[in-house]
Amino acid sequence: MLQHAHNISIDDLASQQKVDLHSGLTEAEAKIRLLKFGENSLKRTKPKSIYVIFFEQFLDPVIYVLLVAMILAFIFGEFIEGAAVLVVILITAIIGFFMEWRALRSVESLQKLVPKKAVAFRGGAIKNILASQLVPGDIIIVDAGMVVPADARIIKSDSLAVKEAVLTGESNQVEKHTDIVPLKSPIAEHYNMLYKGTIVSRGKARALVTGTGDHTVIGQISSLTQEAEKTRTPLEKRLRSLSKWLIWLTIILALFIAVSGYFQGKDLMLMIETGIALAVAAIPEGLPIVATISLARGMVKLSKQQVIIKKLEAVQTLGETGIICTDKTGTLTENKMAVHTLVFEDESLQVGKRSDDKVLDPENNEVLSKLALVSVLCNNHDVNNNIGGSDAIEIALVNFFEKTGFDIMNLRESFHRIDEIPFDAENKLMASVHFMNGGSFIGVKGALESIIECCDKVLTNKGVIALENLQKWEQRNDEVASEGMRVLAFAFKQIEGDITKADYLKNLTFIGLIGFLDPPRQDIQQAMQTYRMAGIKVVMITGDHPDTAKKIAEDVGLLDSLDKQHTVIKGGELTDLSKLTGIEKERILNARVFARMAPKQKLDLIDFYQQNNAIVGMLGDGVNDAPALKKANIGIAMGIRGTEAAKEVADVILLDDKFTSTELAIRQGRTIFANIRQFVVYLLSCNLAEIISVGIASISNLPLPLLPLQILFLNLVTDVFPALALGFGKGDSNVMLEKPRDPKEPILKPLHWKLTLFYGATITASVIGITIFATLKLNLEPHIVNNMAFYTLILAQLLNVFNLPNSSFFKNEVTRNVWIWVALAVSLLMVVLANVIQVVSEVLSLVPLTLEQFSYIGLFAILSVLLTQIVKRLFMPSMR
Ligand code: ATP
Repeated sequence: MLQHAHNISIDDLASQQKVDLHSGLTEAEAKIRLLKFGENSLKRTKPKSIYVIFFEQFLDPVIYVLLVAMILAFIFGEFIEGAAVLVVILITAIIGFFMEWRALRSVESLQKLVPKKAVAFRGGAIKNILASQLVPGDIIIVDAGMVVPADARIIKSDSLAVKEAVLTGESNQVEKHTDIVPLKSPIAEHYNMLYKGTIVSRGKARALVTGTGDHTVIGQISSLTQEAEKTRTPLEKRLRSLSKWLIWLTIILALFIAVSGYFQGKDLMLMIETGIALAVAAIPEGLPIVATISLARGMVKLSKQQVIIKKLEAVQTLGETGIICTDKTGTLTENKMAVHTLVFEDESLQVGKRSDDKVLDPENNEVLSKLALVSVLCNNHDVNNNIGGSDAIEIALVNFFEKTGFDIMNLRESFHRIDEIPFDAENKLMASVHFMNGGSFIGVKGALESIIECCDKVLTNKGVIALENLQKWEQRNDEVASEGMRVLAFAFKQIEGDITKADYLKNLTFIGLIGFLDPPRQDIQQAMQTYRMAGIKVVMITGDHPDTAKKIAEDVGLLDSLDKQHTVIKGGELTDLSKLTGIEKERILNARVFARMAPKQKLDLIDFYQQNNAIVGMLGDGVNDAPALKKANIGIAMGIRGTEAAKEVADVILLDDKFTSTELAIRQGRTIFANIRQFVVYLLSCNLAEIISVGIASISNLPLPLLPLQILFLNLVTDVFPALALGFGKGDSNVMLEKPRDPKEPILKPLHWKLTLFYGATITASVIGITIFATLKLNLEPHIVNNMAFYTLILAQLLNVFNLPNSSFFKNEVTRNVWIWVALAVSLLMVVLANVIQVVSEVLSLVPLTLEQFSYIGLFAILSVLLTQIVKRLFMPSMR
């Protein structure tokens, strides 16, 4: 890192860095420097090592309990049980390890899908390169909306302003220049420097890279916090606390069962083993990790649909989103601006209409030629280079007047630009100042209300007259806007001699209006319909004119065009959102379109929604949107059109810029939560069935339906595979017909607890049923009864997956999930193998059964599903 670049002259710096300021480094030299200095990326996101991931699997209360159980088993001399618990521990850790490892790797590889870009001079040409390839000595170009890719000394600045909050905490933008800064000044006063990670909020600059990667100011700061901490998603945290709670419950129940079995005259050793095995079996090992697996799978799936999720927890938040705030241009519209309507004092033209073509003769039309002059001069679209991305409106103006016969380059050369008031969303205007025959020419364009208050004259075909009828212009402006067009007003001033900045916007001459057509996107209507049914409110927040906003909102189906009651709230009407009366609050909560909103107001509105308990998603692309994207619970940036600044702070990036992709993401978020819920209900109801069955048998005189090792076997077979498969489901097609989930809602609501108890009870009924039936009616030996109960439990648990869906029994998200069928097949295969492999069948105390006995097993297992379905459908319609 070059220490004092701010205090060295540009030429000295260039010779120190051995670079030609006009042509930049050669590609060959850049390659050599890249080898020498390394990539321009921060090392702070060091990936977690494979050993750490493995070791962390053992730092879990579930494993602690299992370890205690294993030690107890060995102490009591039950070596087979001890070894079996050890197998359970190892399998749990290995599954957890693989799942977490895959999840982490997929998150990392997804982040690489959105590479950071930079613009640099290399070998005399301007090139788009990866920011990671920048080296000290490179000459870079930065533009409004970019994130500064490396530390650099400014060589040339065009109204450059930068937001440096990441470094200095100062939220206001800092004006930059090229003059030398005193040696001992603080970083906040290095007005001639650009620092990596800060955001260019206005203007343009050329700069010489002085530091890259960790050798930048931000690199030095972040190296202090290098270690990547283990961050858990909120969902995982909740599952962990649920599982901790369940551990205690299980231990108490296991103790109770062991003690009461002993008092019923059962063998003490057997009851201790049973207690341990029950505790092991009933503890939901897979619970926390399933959240990570499901969320990571969701991320990968979405990335295939061009939606990049930057953080795991964002998938979860997407499922909770209740309000989506969106801008207008480019998101709801195509962002293909084209000049459509021209309005002057004496006439109004719709270009493209044959009859009007003849009027488009700038040579004989003084007003039109002035409009053309302001349009191309007060315009930053670089006709030769489109690097950095230009404003669609400015491109439309250049294209239009080029077609009308103007030589743009020539005009710009003859009217050399000497100053500019850059466009900003707050003032809604832009002005440029030019030399003209010894005098100055000022061109201004912007929103009518911003421009007209600076004008006192208007240009007509018969010369300049006083501007008197302001209302007439407002009316004309509204008329064009109500056709859905974006409207700009134009004005100019020509003066002899020099002019001071304070006078730029005084006594201007008004020229007229241009209406730009930007067609609404065709695919939005369907998405709006889906959101309406999903209880998600879409709100348009725009800086544009209220009538333009309203028409576009109607065209895309955000507002019902037949319902004329809708009000569009204007930024000017919004005062302090924290001091609203009940009615005002209601009005804002019900509104769908906010127009003429300043960037700060976007932020306040999001805050307001959040105060009113909504989870807010915000779509944006500009540098001005960055704070709102950060403030929203889910910031969504556009991949193609979005500025680097917006992409940097966003949680989600839509690579294809399609609004409709938000729907995919929200659907995925909802589905994942529903899957996790199903997984938990399934796992808990199965575990519960095991506990209650053994519990009932031990406090009554019945033979034990499950022996300790059988419990451990069940734990590995029926619990794990179907449960994991549930986490992989594509979800219920009705997820988008439900209201957004309250983020405070627990994983299991009372209804789900009831269902868990109910499913557990019906499985228990079939197990206890067959135990009683086989003992009392068939008079079978206890070890055969035990085998029959064991198989019934396995089968009833496997069939329990079909109890979970709330729709049709045969066609639902579970029956459509291939993983479920794979899981069932694997589980059954393992049961068969356990029978065939002699050691295993001996350990599990399995004996050959007759066909008749197997028929009873099948019958009782199916009865449990039948009973569940009948009771659920007839008596518990609310649970369906
Ligand atoms: P949207 O929601 O449509 O994306 P926005 O919130 O980004 O809009 P701005 O781009 O801030 O809105 O535009 C607000 C107003 O500023 C416009 O209605 C227009 O009158 C004016 N304006 C927009 N772009 C320019 C420009 N390049 N030069 C001058 N004025 C502009």
